Amino acid sequence: MVQKKTICDLDVAGKKVLLRCDLDVPREKTAPELACDVRLAAALPTIRSLLERGAAVIACAHRGDPRGGRDEALSLAPAAECLGTLLGRPVLFAEDAAGEDARAKAAALRCGQVLLLENLRFHPEEERNDPGFAKRLASMAEIYVLDSFAAVYCAHASTVGAAALLPAAAGLALAGELEGLGRAMDGMKRPFVAVLGGAPDGKKLDVMDALLDRADAVILGGGLANTFLKARGGKIGRSLFSPERCETALALLDKAKKRGVKCFFPIDTLAANEISPSVKPSLEGAMALFGDKIGMDIGPRTVELFGNVIRTAGAVVWSGPMGVWELPAFSGGTRGIGEAMAAANAVTVVAGGDSVRAVEQMGLTGRFTHVSPSAEALLRCLAGQKAPGLACLPDR
Ligand code: ADP
Ligand code: MG
Repeated sequence: MVQKKTICDLDVAGKKVLLRCDLDVPREKTAPELACDVRLAAALPTIRSLLERGAAVIACAHRGDPRGGRDEALSLAPAAECLGTLLGRPVLFAEDAAGEDARAKAAALRCGQVLLLENLRFHPEEERNDPGFAKRLASMAEIYVLDSFAAVYCAHASTVGAAALLPAAAGLALAGELEGLGRAMDGMKRPFVAVLGGAPDGKKLDVMDALLDRADAVILGGGLANTFLKARGGKIGRSLFSPERCETALALLDKAKKRGVKCFFPIDTLAANEISPSVKPSLEGAMALFGDKIGMDIGPRTVELFGNVIRTAGAVVWSGPMGVWELPAFSGGTRGIGEAMAAANAVTVVAGGDSVRAVEQMGLTGRFTHVSPSAEALLRCLAGQKAPGLACLPDR
């Protein structure tokens, strides 16, 4: 991995810094709950360092997918309030990202102060990388800092657009991600195994295509596997899957076959009639779920099968829980994979918000080569895809 210039390489004293951070916090979370959000916590070191070194910080970020329109439930106002609490100083908030309110507040900002701009994606210009919008953002500051690993594959106005207009560098959270990723890439050995699971409608299918160019084997579990099991003609009862992606799943299996990438699927499943904490699981065949049954976790024979593949791997990347791990009765598969990886004599990477929370809850966090909440960015990097958000930052 090439090393990128970081905020430590820049003289920021007396300067206004446009900081693109990762505040993509869940829609349902309100101000007090956000105070312990991992993303807010990850944004703090860079903000603190910039303030300590005499800068003024103009922070910007996106939240959710408002598709270029205002959506009050996706406002960043609660994040400003919580950042203020965590930093121990007020964080000013602008009602728009690059309009009159933002520009007036940015102009009046003094060293040691923080201003957070409203959700960038309320403006359709952001995702279009509109040059005028990028210019309005950049013109509020003298230095640009990217601190969102999740955004490195977004060629947007607040990433590549603004970075091209100002002296630019990586923030501490992004630098930490790149360092962990570099450690994983440097130690990479074969066979390289990708373990994909999680939500049936997640983004992992999009990334699997790229991973098939690099991996020797792919293990599929969780809700994601249901789409494949269904597409292959399996009986999956009322299990959650993504009907509109069955074709894609079959195309991916075809590609895997052509490339000689081995694919592994669940053989047994813990199922119940509803997704609720009070249900009693029954053990079923993974392709033989009938009636109202919903597959909610991989069964013990599958844990054994997947574990054997992991134990002989040279490198393993895992993204997405193997089941509805939030319910203790259905967390065993996720725990089994986490433990197999922790014990493996391999480079190990865990990626994704839920995956990271799961291994944290199981007390395994320190046992992997790298752990990252940004599943998509990490998988794309490991698959060797070029990241526009990194290309626009100068090398060290
Ligand atoms: P990550 O955040 O690690 O990238 P995802 O967000 O893609 O992972 O997936 C996590 C979610 O997927 C969890 O809420 C979990 O309950 C759900 N999930 C996993 N397996 C299943 C399943 N078989 N059926 C329904 N939901 C599942
Ligand atoms: Mg998730």
